[in-house]
Amino acid sequence: MYQLEAIFQTRLDRTLQRVSARVTSRRRTRAQNAAVGGAAYSQHLIALAADLVPVAGSSYATIAAAARSAGLVPVIESDHVHVQLFPAGLPFVARLIDLLAA
Ligand SMILES: [Zn+2]
Repeated sequence: MYQLEAIFQTRLDRTLQRVSARVTSRRRTRAQNAAVGGAAYSQHLIALAADLVPVAGSSYATIAAAARSAGLVPVIESDHVHVQLFPAGLPFVARLIDLLAA
């Protein structure tokens, strides 16, 4: 898990070097995730996701493109760009969340 988190962080750092964005959500507990209406198997629960909002000169599209080129999976939501390490719906990620989410 630690190594996956480090890989995610490296890719997030690369994304943030390429575009101006503010991180508004990162790791969440199950309680925090439920409070914001997060997906039951959100990668936020295992610190493998972040939410980004554009600042000065960037846009949802430029953030998504930078994240994709850094090796993350972006999802443009109504008021932020969610980025995660793995594509949605992978059974092994659900197992990790079952084992590791706080
Ligand atoms: Zn998110």
